[in-house]
Amino acid sequence: MAKEKKKLPLAAYIFAGLVLGILAGAALMKTPEIAVEYIKPFGTLFLNLVKFIVVPIVLFSIMSGVISMQDMRKVGSIGVKTVCYYMCTTAMAVLIGLVIANLCKGFFHQLATSGLEYEAAEAPSFIETIVNIFPNNALEPMVNANMLQVIVIALFFGFGAIAVGEKGRAFTEFVESASAISMYVMDTIIKLSPIGVFCLITPVVAENGPSVLGDLATVLLVAYAAYILHMVVVYSLTVKAMGGLSPIQFFKGMLPAILFAFSSASSVGTLPLNLECVQKLGAKKDVASFVLPLGATINMDGTAIYQGVCVIFIATCFGVDLTIGQQLTIILTATLASIGTAGVPGAGMIMLAMVLQSVGLPVEGIALVAGIDRIFDMGRTTVNITGDAACTLCVSKMEEKRQAQKKTEA
Ligand code: ASP
Repeated sequence: MAKEKKKLPLAAYIFAGLVLGILAGAALMKTPEIAVEYIKPFGTLFLNLVKFIVVPIVLFSIMSGVISMQDMRKVGSIGVKTVCYYMCTTAMAVLIGLVIANLCKGFFHQLATSGLEYEAAEAPSFIETIVNIFPNNALEPMVNANMLQVIVIALFFGFGAIAVGEKGRAFTEFVESASAISMYVMDTIIKLSPIGVFCLITPVVAENGPSVLGDLATVLLVAYAAYILHMVVVYSLTVKAMGGLSPIQFFKGMLPAILFAFSSASSVGTLPLNLECVQKLGAKKDVASFVLPLGATINMDGTAIYQGVCVIFIATCFGVDLTIGQQLTIILTATLASIGTAGVPGAGMIMLAMVLQSVGLPVEGIALVAGIDRIFDMGRTTVNITGDAACTLCVSKMEEKRQAQKKTEA
């Protein structure tokens, strides 16, 4: 009962922060510099706090998760299920984005493409992405918050602690203690999220008034329709079938993280709150602390949808009709690009360059959608973190069942 009481107010306060932020932003549309100068810094301050706690949370919670499983095969089995779920749902996401965009492309307002300039930041190739997962230094990944590398370090040390047995006891105790402290600090920071959300959303609305949407309103609508469809269909079905939760329970429980992701446009930043939400929904801590950080790093369903929709839009503007073969290439590259997309604002747009190149479209096309990237990003991040949570709940349930079966067999 006490838990129930605690959960509802946080979601409600975050929602209030979001609505008030939108209203304040709308009121400041004529003088956005006020929002940028006086409100945005507090949003950044809050985001800094959230980002600073992410590395300790991921490092210690994955280590303690692995150590507590005491079984490398169990970690392997969770890892395989997780990666399969992430890859399949991401491919599904691009497919949904492509189908809806193809159906609606007649409504796209075609923009002039002459004189387009876009300085594309270089997107890493697939093989580079794989090589970059493995750190060549133990500290650098933590300093730079390179989450995939932090996960690898945590896994190695977690396995190491199991392998050395008794000699690893002191380290295990230290990890448990550091994990508990990090969680406490995270809880404290999360309490500030309603104010943080307000300060993050106000400048976004003040700077991107409705006029900036202009000709892009239809593409934006198509992307949001695909985001919503994917969340409602794919996550509801998987959470119901594999996670044993009703979709309403799931989305209700996820509300604080969803609102936070929408305002911050950062999967990694939403990680601490997401961890809280999935555990309240019944996910086991050891599974959540492994599956969720991995998802915040490699699973980007919303980004994949965005890429599918934008590629069709950009192709339409350039007067190119993409063949079925090219669209299959998009599904493959967008799914792989998802692994290399960092969970921070704007990362998905950089990876769009890779997807455009894969089908021979000019990278400058990104300039057509870059102006309102933040608005695309808010939606795609929301989908990204909801997908991470859905996977966590499913894998956690499967593990529970596997364990129960093992016990009855024994
Ligand atoms: N902002 C997204 C995220 O953090 C990544 C993206 O730009 O697509 O999940």
